[in-house]
Amino acid sequence: MNAPFIPSVGEKVKAFLGREHKLLIGGQWIAAQAGKSFDTYDPGTGRVIARVAEGAAADIDRAVMAARAAFDGGAWGRITASDRGRMIWKLGDLIEQHGAELAELETLNNGKPLASAQRGDVPLSADMFRYMAGWATKITGETLDVSMPGSYHAFTVREPVGVVGQIIPWNAPLLMAAWKLAPALATGCTIVLKPAEQTPLSALRLGELIQEAGFPDGVVNIVTGFGPTAGAAIAAHPDIDKVAFTGSSDVGRIIVQAAAGNLKKVSLELGGKSPVIVFPDADMSVAVPGAAQAIFANSGQVCTAGSRLFAHKSIFDKMVEGVAAEAGKIRVGHGMQAGTQMGPVISKTQLERVTGYIEQGKAAGASVAAGGARIGNEGYFIAPTILTGTTADMSVVKEEIFGPVVCAMRFDDDDIERVARQANDTIFGLAGSVWTRELSTAHKMVRRIRAGRIGVNIHGSVDAALPTGGFKQSGWGRERGREGLNLYTEVKSVIMAL
Ligand code: NAD
Repeated sequence: MNAPFIPSVGEKVKAFLGREHKLLIGGQWIAAQAGKSFDTYDPGTGRVIARVAEGAAADIDRAVMAARAAFDGGAWGRITASDRGRMIWKLGDLIEQHGAELAELETLNNGKPLASAQRGDVPLSADMFRYMAGWATKITGETLDVSMPGSYHAFTVREPVGVVGQIIPWNAPLLMAAWKLAPALATGCTIVLKPAEQTPLSALRLGELIQEAGFPDGVVNIVTGFGPTAGAAIAAHPDIDKVAFTGSSDVGRIIVQAAAGNLKKVSLELGGKSPVIVFPDADMSVAVPGAAQAIFANSGQVCTAGSRLFAHKSIFDKMVEGVAAEAGKIRVGHGMQAGTQMGPVISKTQLERVTGYIEQGKAAGASVAAGGARIGNEGYFIAPTILTGTTADMSVVKEEIFGPVVCAMRFDDDDIERVARQANDTIFGLAGSVWTRELSTAHKMVRRIRAGRIGVNIHGSVDAALPTGGFKQSGWGRERGREGLNLYTEVKSVIMAL
């Protein structure tokens, strides 16, 4: 990495950063009731880039009231599904039109390479709204054959679950907002969204675009603030019908407990420790870059990251050498710097957490095959890291690091059951991938890995059509795809005596 880099951004982003950042409640931008605000940073420099209103319980109350009014008898309920779909589609168009600005904002606040934001986060967000726009008109019930045909008419209807609280993390701020908002809007819910405190900016800009797209006031409310205050108020709120959370498993447990008060519906997308399993017959020209991409994309800050690499003993050394060579080629730097392929981790806290894990791994006997340390002393950069000699009992193998660190382990025989047991030896079950040219190995492993998403010769995809979610402690429910709509509807059965 070169000398400290001071990013320059476009005029629109400059103007946005210069604005006062308030809360979007009931269609108005208003200050937090307590008058507080907090700094938000560029993790590539560690410098403050804006101040943002600090919402707390009183602001969540106001936002819930606005969402309730919009849901119960407001304009939203009188809009046809087709018009709802049209607004959602328009929001996708607006994201695309303002893509350059949104990508810069995302890079500045999250640290990811500008090219990733431009080619990934922004178009994927637009696509999510467009995908769900199509579903708005296709949410249907069923007619049912009940006993004594001719005597009864029975059917189901799917209705919106109501006022929804959504709490999202910082690793893909705009895309996380899109993944949460789009299905809730398609099904006719109203929303209180709380972005992560580390990355509030793109959600606030999205709030402006939501207004431009013509959604009625109160349909989407955005309250920036911290987890234990604003987030906790959402989870516990008696007038929120459902909470959708993406974040750590520890906070997921807190959400579940808080939601028990009014027994609101809960969906959770939590942590992972996903296996990448490479069999001896794998095409190494695909598996090596695939395994590197699986862990180093977005600096490893991906819930489905392939953080445990299992390679057959006959190809283990080749695999580790290959991934280490890929790691060595990755250009780490400020996201706004041309050519950067991997940005910083999100914060000083995360930097210390990730480097702390690397030290714990070394102390427990692991060896560093690549990286292993912080880069530079400005911004929060960590070298892409491979640990070998790791075993199932080490914290680096058991716990989610959420950084660019992979633990490489060999498997010793060709017994599929044993390999699957090794891969499943985790409290998580979010994703996994299998690398082989043998169809039967692929199919057998697909069925044996206990996780919500499995890739064969690819680690994963975030297509809007592909449901994702966790087995075990990785979560409850599936987001995206048709499946994702079910999180935001209630089924009502109706029976009529004829
Ligand atoms: P986190 O759980 O600390 O924070 C996530 C969100 O929860 C933030 O908005 C935060 O403000 C809020 N929050 C924190 N404490 C809260 C509380 N007591 N009550 C209510 N809300 C609270 O997670 P993080 O460390 O910021 O993010 C990284 C974690 O998120 C990782 O574990 C990762 O696996 C997970 N994640 C999962 C997915 C997925 O789709 N499964 C995607 C991205 C990240």
